[in-house]
Amino acid sequence: RPSPGSCPIPIPPGSSASPKVVVTGAAGFIGSHLVDALLATGHVVVGVDRRNPCSDLLAGLNLAGAVNHPKFTWVDADVANASLDAVLDGADCVFHLAGLPGVRRSWGCEFAAYVTANIVATERLVAACERAGVRRLVYASSSSVYGPTTAASRESDPTRPISPYGITKLAGELLCLAHAVRADSRLSVVALRYFTVYGPRQRPDMAIGRMLAAALTGKRYPLFGNGSQRREFTYVSDVVNATIAASRLEQRHAVVNVGGGASVSITDLLGIVGDLTGRPVPLAAVAAQPGDVCATAADLTNARACLDYRPSVNLPVGLALHLEWLRGLPAQVLRLYEPMFEPCAAEVAS
Ligand code: NAD
Repeated sequence: RPSPGSCPIPIPPGSSASPKVVVTGAAGFIGSHLVDALLATGHVVVGVDRRNPCSDLLAGLNLAGAVNHPKFTWVDADVANASLDAVLDGADCVFHLAGLPGVRRSWGCEFAAYVTANIVATERLVAACERAGVRRLVYASSSSVYGPTTAASRESDPTRPISPYGITKLAGELLCLAHAVRADSRLSVVALRYFTVYGPRQRPDMAIGRMLAAALTGKRYPLFGNGSQRREFTYVSDVVNATIAASRLEQRHAVVNVGGGASVSITDLLGIVGDLTGRPVPLAAVAAQPGDVCATAADLTNARACLDYRPSVNLPVGLALHLEWLRGLPAQVLRLYEPMFEPCAAEVAS
């Protein structure tokens, strides 16, 4: 079992047959799925997170399959201030998923925490990767870096994020790429712009899990705005496959969209959830939130060319898998997914 405190040493060095890889944000939604997939394909995996699976309920559930795996080492560390050199020693690839997600909370109240988690931690990690001679850093960027759009976003489009979260993710992405173009660096970087990810283990603050939980429990789901907003939803296994493929891309630096293949309105999503659960989702009308763009959609041309990426799980299938997982949760965990709307002070004021 992992223990709290500093990292347990020695961390396995890996071999050419099973190279050591490091996943930051390993106890999180996407990071824990990535850890499982890497272990399943024979990698020696070091998972880093500041949430400990022994003391944090969701982190423990997320990493339940990994913690006792012989090729998994747990490191309880905050990337923004921990010593990273021993953790990265001998690593071939680092998947940097640690970060503070969520558009709405990034306004005002918690901005400093976003800067620390998404910018300061990223800069510390990239510098440590260079020192350790890591070959590849894969950075979990976000569709939020694009800002308002009227068509499917291409990686070459201008980036005009309209939330503090999007701005910190873009800063993290640019920092990683700046290191990759340094003449004295052997580090190569692939930044993946994930479009709204869903599936089992999704964070409780995200829309789909809360919609499904609203239908199951009869509690009202807070509908921000009129439901016409469109989102490209991406099933988590597709994101994991793209992320692993990014570790092998033969380019010094690249930025690649990772989307689900279709952009769907929130109204249509509510309809699919209602059909799937057999119950309409009860709604509570809430004003549209600052920082929420009207639409996201991914142009996947680059992802197909670079990563041979094709999303394989469509929305109805992915929602059914997500629902099945929610239904299997113990009651005290399902409660975490019940709809709630707790605006922070800045949201109330704005
Ligand atoms: P998550 O909150 O479930 O996972 C992030 C993990 O990072 C958490 O376990 C957290 O404890 C950890 N973490 C944060 N700061 C840390 C630090 N300084 N040191 C160590 N650990 C730290 O979030 P997620 O939804 O799995 O997102 C993972 C990454 O993907 C994030 O960087 C996020 O910005 C990005 N992303 C997610 C989505 C999405 O739809 N979920 C979309 C675009 C981008």
